Amino acid sequence: MSEPSTQREFHDFTIRAVRATTVSVPLVAPLRHAAGAHWGRFVRTLVEVETADGLVGLGELGGGGESAAAAVRDLESYLVGHSPFDLEALRFKICNPTASLYNNRTQLHAAVEFACLDLIGLRIGVPVHDLLGGRVRDRVEFASYLFYRYADPATGSGEVRTVDQLVAHALELRARHGFRSHKLKGGVFEPGYEVECYRALAAALPGDTFRYDPNCALSLRQSMRVIDAIADVDNDYLEDPTWGMGGMRALRGKGPLLATNTLVVNFEQLAANVLAPAVDVILLDTTFWGGIRACVKAAGICETFQLPVAVHSSGELGIQLASMLHLGAVVPGLTFAADAHYHHLTDDVIAGGKLPYTDGAIEVPCGPGLGVRLDHDKVAEYAERYREEGGYPYDRDPGRPGWYPLVPNTDWADPTDETGVSW
Ligand SMILES: [Mg+2]
Repeated sequence: MSEPSTQREFHDFTIRAVRATTVSVPLVAPLRHAAGAHWGRFVRTLVEVETADGLVGLGELGGGGESAAAAVRDLESYLVGHSPFDLEALRFKICNPTASLYNNRTQLHAAVEFACLDLIGLRIGVPVHDLLGGRVRDRVEFASYLFYRYADPATGSGEVRTVDQLVAHALELRARHGFRSHKLKGGVFEPGYEVECYRALAAALPGDTFRYDPNCALSLRQSMRVIDAIADVDNDYLEDPTWGMGGMRALRGKGPLLATNTLVVNFEQLAANVLAPAVDVILLDTTFWGGIRACVKAAGICETFQLPVAVHSSGELGIQLASMLHLGAVVPGLTFAADAHYHHLTDDVIAGGKLPYTDGAIEVPCGPGLGVRLDHDKVAEYAERYREEGGYPYDRDPGRPGWYPLVPNTDWADPTDETGVSW
């Protein structure tokens, strides 16, 4: 067999080194969720994949509040000499499906895939969305992502606990960024209180749409009560009210469309959901699914079976956000606003600072590759911050020491508790 043309014409375009840097970037305030909290910062690991001809592609991943740098560095021996063009080979080198039973590297693969797509785009001078079929929109609309929050321990501000605080927070975000869809992250307080909050949002923001996501914390019976109680709200969808395909299947068709980012996050689960539908809306996460291209493939399957899709956020700095923007740019059937935690960040590590929202949307980057580059001063600053602060346990709540949730949860936080957190 003759040598592939890419290997002849791009003989220096092979991976020479892989670097990983963990950073800690502050949030406006700690974000509470059903299993714990983001403790006032995002810990993200930045990946730099360098080729023999001196280009550097960028990737990013989380780690549940911890560093993933060692796991990325351990991949270097797999990657040196590999051409960034060979994306299908990369998938099997890193996440062979049977070897993955022992070492699940799906999220590591995603970060390396972002970097390889970035490298290809840089090398041939086109944006990543042009490698994925070309963009069908120039901007991606986002939902406000509303969390219950502890007050920031340093400033004492930013708390979102009461109905009035939540509504004021949503109005402020809408005024500042232009969001027209609003997502309430719940599963923190007992469901009746969270429904009261959700309905207050809907009353305060007429003409907008809403989505509620208690992260699978509710029982089937509680889920059915929520469905009845929000029937007159203009719901985008109800996201992961309860755990399990069987539970969701029992709820499907009884109220709003059901969405998930927990039960259908790979192709086997997507196939199962096509054969025996349990959810309506598939939330595509460029990290959970193992890359931008996996999400594009999944979107194609969803289009075939008329399953709506939206873009999920598992936390992001600007590199991950760029992966979401390029995905959002090329999926024709993206009728829902995307999710992002991005507006909760105080800063970013990309050159030029945080990408701005205009009328609730962010422009799709059009420079070569992912279209974002690192600000190395910012990376150094937030890497130092990570060395000082360390990680945090995503599935623990700093305001409820010793607590952990059952699924379904039976021990909710108290919305009248003003104690907060300190560290
Ligand atoms: Mg969710």
